[in-house]
Amino acid sequence: MNIIVCLKTVPEATEVKIDPATNNLVRQGTKNIINPLDAYALEEAVRLKEKNGGKVTVISMGQLENKDTLKEAVSLGADEAILLSDAAFTGADTWATANTLAAAIKKSGQFDIVVCGRQTLDGDTGQVGPQLAEMLDVPVITNVSKIEEIAGGQIRLQRMTDEGHAVVQAPLPVVITVTKEINVPRLPSLRSIIKSKSAVIPVWGLANLGVDPAKVGLVGSYTKVTKLFYPDRTRKTTVLQGELKVQVDLLCEKLKDSGLV
Ligand code: FAD
Repeated sequence: MNIIVCLKTVPEATEVKIDPATNNLVRQGTKNIINPLDAYALEEAVRLKEKNGGKVTVISMGQLENKDTLKEAVSLGADEAILLSDAAFTGADTWATANTLAAAIKKSGQFDIVVCGRQTLDGDTGQVGPQLAEMLDVPVITNVSKIEEIAGGQIRLQRMTDEGHAVVQAPLPVVITVTKEINVPRLPSLRSIIKSKSAVIPVWGLANLGVDPAKVGLVGSYTKVTKLFYPDRTRKTTVLQGELKVQVDLLCEKLKDSGLV
């Protein structure tokens, strides 16, 4: 079984800096981690490999410095980890990101399952998985919380809905996006950490992918993040004093003064 895991490197949530000129996250020099939900995606892929045999390949688009998180993915059970990095990929929106990932998946050969996280910690759009499936022309099942069975070229799984769970079946190959309910990611063993230190992480750029430059990076993006800003969290509070009737009158007055009523 050939399983692909799309894994994004994201800034650790507490260390988010925004470049006011480009509205992009400043990713250089920040502490980077594996996108939390992608750790669940990787764990599920490794469990599928351990149960059915095969290979787990991690594919990640990002900065050259992201090699460290890809080595961490190897220590967590990936057989191979490929970094997609090229100035041409910078500023990609989800569509251009999915395009780049799809080109790399096609280049990597036949696959049975692509496992994505439901969404990332930074962009948080949850769009890449479905877009990837569209570009690979395969079914997509989102919010997967359990894989029940893979047999006869079909996969049967549970997906989370607002009301609870739905059981869904689809033919392979397929793209799935997973939630944190699907498993508990393992910790790496000392042996796997040592082995991962010498892992070779191939880097594929635009030329390796043979993808149309007009369909990747900022030029290939249909959406542009026009503004990123920190929410104003300064709270102004007034504690109303006095009898209940007095407090109610004061509150009505304030609501009127602030134009809310
Ligand atoms: P999601 O769609 O949330 O990711 C879902 C899954 O796709 C991930 O769990 C992972 O498995 C896979 N995946 C996503 N990115 C990668 C990757 N680079 N490499 C490997 N696997 C990956 N783009 C937009 O189009 N619209 C926006 O509104 C938007 N807002 C943004 C806001 C912020 C703060 C930031 C930092 C970026 C934003 N972007 C946006 C750009 C967006 O982050 C990138 O296009 C990104 O690579 C994919 O979008 P996402 O992070 O929302 O991924």
